[in-house]
Amino acid sequence: MRALLLSDIHANLDALEAVLAAAPSHDTVWNLGDVVGYGARPNEVIERVRGLGTLFVRGNHDRACCGETSASDFNPIAKQAAQWTQQTLTPEHLDWLRHLPAGPVTADGQQAACVHGSPLDEDEYLLSSEDASFSFADWPAALTFFGHTHVQGGFAAPRSAANTSAGNGVKSRRMEIDYGEGEAVVREIPLEGGLRYLINPGSVGQPRDGDWRAAFALYDDRKMSVEFHRVPYDVRAAQMQILRAGLPDRLATRLREGR
Ligand code: ZN
Repeated sequence: MRALLLSDIHANLDALEAVLAAAPSHDTVWNLGDVVGYGARPNEVIERVRGLGTLFVRGNHDRACCGETSASDFNPIAKQAAQWTQQTLTPEHLDWLRHLPAGPVTADGQQAACVHGSPLDEDEYLLSSEDASFSFADWPAALTFFGHTHVQGGFAAPRSAANTSAGNGVKSRRMEIDYGEGEAVVREIPLEGGLRYLINPGSVGQPRDGDWRAAFALYDDRKMSVEFHRVPYDVRAAQMQILRAGLPDRLATRLREGR
């Protein structure tokens, strides 16, 4: 079974199309949330991902953009984008967003779990190995896919470290990805039997790890490996749509910076 992992598309249709064109053959698509918010093509992106017949977990922007939660704790730019998105979405798409499940959602016959933020809190950012250690301590799954930080990669910890209290004794480490040279790059990382993993495919539509290229991943449960991909896309087109929609300029400029 090969699962295409998509996260944080953020209504960026140009990035999504580039990812789908570059994606290797797969049996299923797992979507880790934030389908909309920030970008200018929310209806088209929802239409496209629904058509892929996928597994979904809701993100914080999905909730705010359909009015399920308030955007009051968002920064002013994110709040403005959420309000614009809510006004732009069709009633059907608003309803679809409202029915997205909260994570964790199990996948691959219980072999893997999908979440937006962390297994313990859908809004938590897993940015450091210390953050990850707490999740590893309180969450026993061997393999969890997450999004939310827009940083491709993830964390690994020894299997024996499950269920110790409050992160005590769990040493997790960040997975380093050496992409090598090239426009579109892929790095395959074998998943070791003695380790547990929290893996982030990165953000399709608004990467924040200093690399502007759209990020995604592919999980292969027979090979027990994850491929991390980066693909270039037409950033200028996505930027123009954001500006034309009257969304904040910063949402356009940050796409080129990968921040
Ligand atoms: Zn996001």
